[in-house]
Amino acid sequence: MKTSIATVSISGELPEKLAAIAKAGFDGVEIFENDFLAFDGSPADVGKMVRDHGLEITLFQPFRDFEGMPEPHRARTFDRAERKFDVMQQLGTDLVLVCSNVSPISLGGIDRAAADFHELGERAAKRGLRVGYEALAWGRHIFDHRDAWEIVRRADHPNIGLILDSFHTLSRKIDINSIRSIPKDKIFIVQLADAPLIDMDLLYWSRHFRNMPGEGDLPVAAFTSAIAETGYDGYFSLEIFNDQFRGGSAKAIAADGHRSLITLGDQVRRGPSAGGLTVPEMPDRAAVKGVGFVEFSASEADAPELIGILQTLGFRRTAVHKSKKVSLYSQGDIRLLLNTDEAGFANASYAVHGVSAYAMALTVDDARETMERAVALGAEPFSQTVGPGEVQIPAIRGVGGGVLYLLDDSSDLARIWDIDFVAVADDTQAQAVHLLRVDHVAQTVAYEEMLTWLLFYTAIFQARKTPMVDIIDPAGIVRSQVVENAEGSLRITMNGAENRRTLAGHFMAETFGSGIQHLAFHTDDIFATAGALRLNGFHPLPISPNYYGDVEARFGLDPELTERLKAHNILYDRDEHGEYFQLYSGTYGEGFFFEIVERRGYRGYGAANAIFRIAALKKQMRPEGLPKV
Ligand code: MG
Ligand code: MG
Repeated sequence: MKTSIATVSISGELPEKLAAIAKAGFDGVEIFENDFLAFDGSPADVGKMVRDHGLEITLFQPFRDFEGMPEPHRARTFDRAERKFDVMQQLGTDLVLVCSNVSPISLGGIDRAAADFHELGERAAKRGLRVGYEALAWGRHIFDHRDAWEIVRRADHPNIGLILDSFHTLSRKIDINSIRSIPKDKIFIVQLADAPLIDMDLLYWSRHFRNMPGEGDLPVAAFTSAIAETGYDGYFSLEIFNDQFRGGSAKAIAADGHRSLITLGDQVRRGPSAGGLTVPEMPDRAAVKGVGFVEFSASEADAPELIGILQTLGFRRTAVHKSKKVSLYSQGDIRLLLNTDEAGFANASYAVHGVSAYAMALTVDDARETMERAVALGAEPFSQTVGPGEVQIPAIRGVGGGVLYLLDDSSDLARIWDIDFVAVADDTQAQAVHLLRVDHVAQTVAYEEMLTWLLFYTAIFQARKTPMVDIIDPAGIVRSQVVENAEGSLRITMNGAENRRTLAGHFMAETFGSGIQHLAFHTDDIFATAGALRLNGFHPLPISPNYYGDVEARFGLDPELTERLKAHNILYDRDEHGEYFQLYSGTYGEGFFFEIVERRGYRGYGAANAIFRIAALKKQMRPEGLPKV
C-alpha cells in the first residue's frame, strides 16, 4: 500500500509539514496549491524540498471549475490549465486533480464535459502530464463518482482518469459496488477521509470535520475494499480538512494519519478480497481479557496517604517486588502496584506528575504478538532494565506518556507474580469489600488528543468506540467517548477537557498532562460493599440530598431503595439493559478518585450522574491558589 497525505491535512508551514510527513513514514505527498503559494521558494524549490525528504509528489491540486464552461469562459479555463501545467512541470509531478465544476454558469451535459476533458487530455499529453477528475459531493452537475466515471470513459483519453475520494462517495451514500467495475488503470489516485456522522451541509461537513480513516463513522474500509478489488495498487492519499488538525501538532497528526492507513490496509487484507493491495503482515488486533494491573508512582513521603485509601477500599498488600520498591495490593482479580522506587521511569513520572496511576497492563492472548502489531502501527516501545531473572514485560508508551504494559496467561508473563514478587503477610486489618475486577479506567486527555488515543486503542485492540457524549461540568463541557469490547473486559473512558476550570481540565493542568483520572472497580453487591467500606472507615463522596428526590421521581424508585442509596451516597442510573449503581471516593491529590460500580445488565457509564459527581468532587477540592495542607 503506497501511502500519501495532502499537505492541507496538517498544520504548520510547508517545510514543517513535509518534515512531519516524511517522519511519519509516508511515501508521497499531495501538494495543495495554497501551501505552495504561501511558501517563498519557487515551484522547483518545493519539488526539491519534497524529494530531499524522500517523498514523491503524488498530486497537485485543486484545479476548479473546468468542465462545461460557456465561451468566453471556456477559453480562459484552458489558459488557466496551461498555467497549472507549467507549475506542475516545475514541481516535478505529473498528476493534477480537477474537481467537478461548482460554478453557476457552468453547463451540464456528459458529452460536453467529456469533450472538454478530451481536449485537456491532448494538452496534458504534450507535456507528459495526467489529469484526474473527482466528483465533489456538492458539484453543480456532477456529484456522483458514477457520472464522473462516465465522463472519463467518454473522454476516452489515456491521460484522463478518475479520482475517487471516500468522503464524496460515502457522504452521499453512493453504492460502493459501482466502484468494483472500474478498470484499475483509469483510477489515477484514491483519496481517503473519514468523518463523524453529523447531519449538516455537505460542503461544511467536508471542509471542517473530515478525520482519519477509523476516527469517524463512515464505512471507509468497505470503500477501500471495493477499490482493492479492481486490482488498484496505486497511492492511497489522505485528504483531511479538519479545523482541529490544522491547529494541532504536525508531527502527531501525520503519525495518526499513517497509523490509520496501515490499520485500514490490514483490515482490508483480512477481508474477503485484498485485491491489488499489498500490506505489511502483522498480527491481528488483540482481544483484551482484562486489566492486568494498574501501577501508581509515589514518593515514600506520599505513599502512606494512598495506602490508607487503598486499605479502606479493602486492598491488602500481598506481595513485594524482589528488586524494586514496588508493593502489590490486591483484591478479587484487581492488582494495584505502588512504586516508590527512587530510580527508573516511575520515579521520573512522579517527578513530573506527582502521585499518579502512570501505568496499566492489559491482558491479551499473546502479549508479544500484540507488541509486534503495536510497533508495526508506530507505537513507541517502552522498556527499562529489570533485575537478573526477572521478566521483561512488553510495553508501549500510552496516554500522557504513561506506560501500557501487555500481559498474557500463557507465557512467562503469566508467572510474573511468582517470578518478580515475593508474597508477604499483610499486617493491617483491612477487610475485603467484595471488589472483583476493574470495571473501567477513565483517562483524561486534552480534547485535541482524543482522536489520537481512540485510534491508538482501536487500531491495536479489538474494540469499538461509542459516540461522543457531552458531560456537563459546572465550569464547562467535557467530551467523553468510550473504547470498549463486547465482553466488557475492556472499558476505557476518555474525557477530553477544553477548559482548565472543569474538573478534567484542572486535573490536566495540575498534574502536567493527560493520564488516568479515575479507576472504577466492579462489585456484585453494591450495598454489601458500601456496608463493608463503612466498617473500614472509607469516606464516600457525599452526594447532595436533592439528587435523591430527583432520581426517585425520574425512575419511579421505591422510596425504600432511595433511602438506602442516600444512606450510602450511591448514585443510580438505568438504561434499556438494566440498572447501574455508583459509589465514589473523594478526590485524592489533584482530582484522582476511585469509583465502585455494580452493573445489573447496564451498559453505560452513568453520564447522567456526572454533573452531580463533579459538583460533589469540586466541593472537596482546595480552592484555587491555596497551598496544600
Ligand atoms: Mg478530494
Ligand atoms: Mg466512571
